[in-house]
Amino acid sequence: MVAPVSILPQNTPGSGPRDAFGRRMNYLRISLTDRCNFRCLYCMPAIGMKFQPRDEMLTDDELIRVVGLCAKLGFTKLRLTGGEPTIRPHLIDIVREMKAFDGIEELSMTTNALLLGRLAGDLKEAGLDRVNISIDTLDPVKFKMMTRGGRFDLVWQGIQAAEAAGMTPIKLNTVVVRDQNDADVADMARLTIDRDWQVRFLEIMPMEGVGVVYDAGLVTSEETKSRLETEFGALEPVSADPSDPARTWRIPGARGTIGFISPISAPFCESCNRVRLTADGNLRLCLLRPDEVNLRDMMRAGATDAEMLQRVRSGVWRKPWGHRVAEGERNTIRGMSQIGG
Ligand code: SAM
Ligand code: SF4
Repeated sequence: MVAPVSILPQNTPGSGPRDAFGRRMNYLRISLTDRCNFRCLYCMPAIGMKFQPRDEMLTDDELIRVVGLCAKLGFTKLRLTGGEPTIRPHLIDIVREMKAFDGIEELSMTTNALLLGRLAGDLKEAGLDRVNISIDTLDPVKFKMMTRGGRFDLVWQGIQAAEAAGMTPIKLNTVVVRDQNDADVADMARLTIDRDWQVRFLEIMPMEGVGVVYDAGLVTSEETKSRLETEFGALEPVSADPSDPARTWRIPGARGTIGFISPISAPFCESCNRVRLTADGNLRLCLLRPDEVNLRDMMRAGATDAEMLQRVRSGVWRKPWGHRVAEGERNTIRGMSQIGG
């Protein structure tokens, strides 16, 4: 996608380093590990998933150092992801240290919730504000199939534990995949009628290693929305933060909301405010483009804070405008679990 000319001279207000298009980056998504206790069919191949050697991963000290430097540069929002972030050793300490940096206003996590039942209270106490939980269906048998072995009952307990711990508002992420869970979207949306939750429907993205699922599986947000409107009547629009990629709606009279995240049919690159840190210490500039800036090797070679800050600043400046997936580009190099979705 080419940047529209009207966008080029604008500078997004707020904190954080700026890219060459004037967009400010204040949101860092941090992959804590490339490993996972599920094998979701749109994220990892059934067999042959290759994980990186542990010595290539950032240590806790390296990770905390990079996050502290990003806080100094004006990043205010952090999200922990993976792979599955809850399997990272010392997670509670990592949360506590990250939240303690001056300038960090919000720390959240995206998780499959399998382990949240026992972790939610400690995570909240350590400073985790919110969680987004990935759950594609309420049917335990289908759930097991889509996650290749996941236990729905434990995930549901994890969601309850997060809510009881006050990690609200609860947001659920559902990747809609044709002939897998596209018929289940109304059941997911119905959860919002008497709960103050947001159920978000994501378009599947073509990531490395799972291309076949993408090509057969894409269901656009428009299609999901019309399926919901057949069931519930016209959805009502809800205004949302412009940097939130979800377009938000409500079933008439419902307590909660429904979000549509449409990276394929309606990319939101124009308002992008985020970069990612991979578990092996690369600043990933765009989810769907291979451009990365290696921070780990310079850190291990003895780089000073000033040199690291400069590398992050110049990396952000080079952030690509957007992806070209709708035009047929397939060039992520890494899978979603290695980048941190
Ligand atoms: N394991 C955690 C989880 O599943 O929530 C965090 C990592 S996961 C890679 C982050 C998000 O990416 C999840 O909401 C997941 O559903 C989503 N995701 C994974 N592969 C995807 C794909 N090919 N297209 C769209 N979303 C995807
Ligand atoms: Fe694991 Fe999350 Fe990928 Fe599923 S989507 S395999 S839970 S990293």
